[in-house]
Amino acid sequence: MEIKNFLEDIVKRVSHNLTEEEKDFCNCERCQADVVAYSLNHLKPKYAANVKGHALTAVDLESEQIQAEVTVQVLKAMKQVKKNPNH
Ligand SMILES: [Zn+2]
Repeated sequence: MEIKNFLEDIVKRVSHNLTEEEKDFCNCERCQADVVAYSLNHLKPKYAANVKGHALTAVDLESEQIQAEVTVQVLKAMKQVKKNPNH
């Protein structure tokens, strides 16, 4: 049974949207990946077995509170990466 951190998908999607909107943010692969990694390191992971309970967890993760938490963390990550880019 595969165990997956479902927050990963949400963080990837949110950071993709936010970095796209932010015109002066570097959109190279490295900076994108750093934002995702930084955000995931600062958020509590949401692990679940990949098959059973997927639907339930997915709905749960779409909640506004989770989205808000992820957005805050991604914005922090972008600030951090912008200050110290690794590319
Ligand atoms: Zn870059």
